[in-house]
Amino acid sequence: MEKLEHIGIAVKNLDESNKLFARLLGKPHYKIEEVASEGVRTSFFDAGNVKIELLEATNPNSPIAKFIEKRGEGIHHLAFEVANVKESVRAYAENGFTLLNETPKAGADNKQIAFMHPKSTNGVLVEMCEEVKS
Ligand code: ZN
Repeated sequence: MEKLEHIGIAVKNLDESNKLFARLLGKPHYKIEEVASEGVRTSFFDAGNVKIELLEATNPNSPIAKFIEKRGEGIHHLAFEVANVKESVRAYAENGFTLLNETPKAGADNKQIAFMHPKSTNGVLVEMCEEVKS
């Protein structure tokens, strides 16, 4: 994995945080997207070579709700771009990393994604994402 694609940040209130990050970055978010299957509503900011993804839970069982319950708001994951997420899942699993989902799933921003368990990556939740060509 070479390129950091985005940094995911768990927030309690997306609308409030959109305002905060607009003040912080000096520009507004450029899109909002709900991923119902993951129980999240997301917004994206362009932060130069990397995006910032804010994530708000849409139901109490959402991984974001559980994260905030345990650890509070803050950095949730680092996402790296990969050319082929299926291949990467296989290669990293073979190389001793623990995957949270072996089968890539649909994420926000037109991506197929898979996560590595933080226990195999020094406590950092790592997302691999492949842009879906339309
Ligand atoms: Zn992400």
